[in-house]
Amino acid sequence: MSLKIGEPWSYGDYKFFGVSLAGIRTAIIMPELSISFDVAQGFPYLINMHKYFITHGHLDHAAGIPYIISQKMMTSQKPGEFYMPPSLVEPMTEIMNLWSKIEGFPYNYKFTAVQGDDEIEINNHSFVKVFPTTHRVESFGYTLFDRKKKLKNEYADLSKNQIVDLRRQGVDVNEVHQIPLVSFTGDTQIEFLDARPWIKKSKILFLEATYLDSMRPIERAREWGHTHFDEIIPRLDEIESERIVLIHTSSRYSISEALRIIKEKVPEKHHERIVFFPGR
Ligand SMILES: [Zn+2]
Ligand SMILES: [Zn+2]
Repeated sequence: MSLKIGEPWSYGDYKFFGVSLAGIRTAIIMPELSISFDVAQGFPYLINMHKYFITHGHLDHAAGIPYIISQKMMTSQKPGEFYMPPSLVEPMTEIMNLWSKIEGFPYNYKFTAVQGDDEIEINNHSFVKVFPTTHRVESFGYTLFDRKKKLKNEYADLSKNQIVDLRRQGVDVNEVHQIPLVSFTGDTQIEFLDARPWIKKSKILFLEATYLDSMRPIERAREWGHTHFDEIIPRLDEIESERIVLIHTSSRYSISEALRIIKEKVPEKHHERIVFFPGR
């Protein structure tokens, strides 16, 4: 079994790197955008990111916040921006004050409380939008959107010159399309899928699947605020995503065992869409 910290995975133009294992560590970055979804215990590959989207406060997702802040200070970087559930801001600030005392220097960082539907700018053509998830503590998921300008349908038949003319007259010939590219959940019950309409339409959907078989029944998974793979399978037809990336599987499954179960349970027509995230 591979226990390497982080392995790259990419789909189309989108590259991902990181780790995810239930109860142990979850932190996945998109290096080109300098963003991270969760931070696990804090790993060197995380410290050069700019924005960190924290799903919830459990240690396997959020313990790395102080480490990253401290490392950024030591390497003279701009302060990191951390987006997190509102209930996490105060206790995490207290933790930072204590670490600051221990390390003997002041920290610079920015904590921002999120709410469902908040939008956070990443660059000129992309932003992250927040959606609620259902876990044992306050939790959120995040979707990276692409913002594309497109010619309005009503002008589709016009020539280039006619469009230039319209522009000169001050007519706004374009409309903005928002395309959900990557949705990421930390720990959540399956209900999050219906929380917002864009989630199932995301090109790439990162989905926790803590339990894969009868080792733990659906009811027990739900009791602990998690998703069982058997709940995902009947919903595959309605999920429009080109890739559904399974993360946060229990360490009780070896990689080969997990792959075997997934292959066995998923109907053939969906095989190509299902990805078992390689970093553990
Ligand atoms: Zn977790
Ligand atoms: Zn959790």
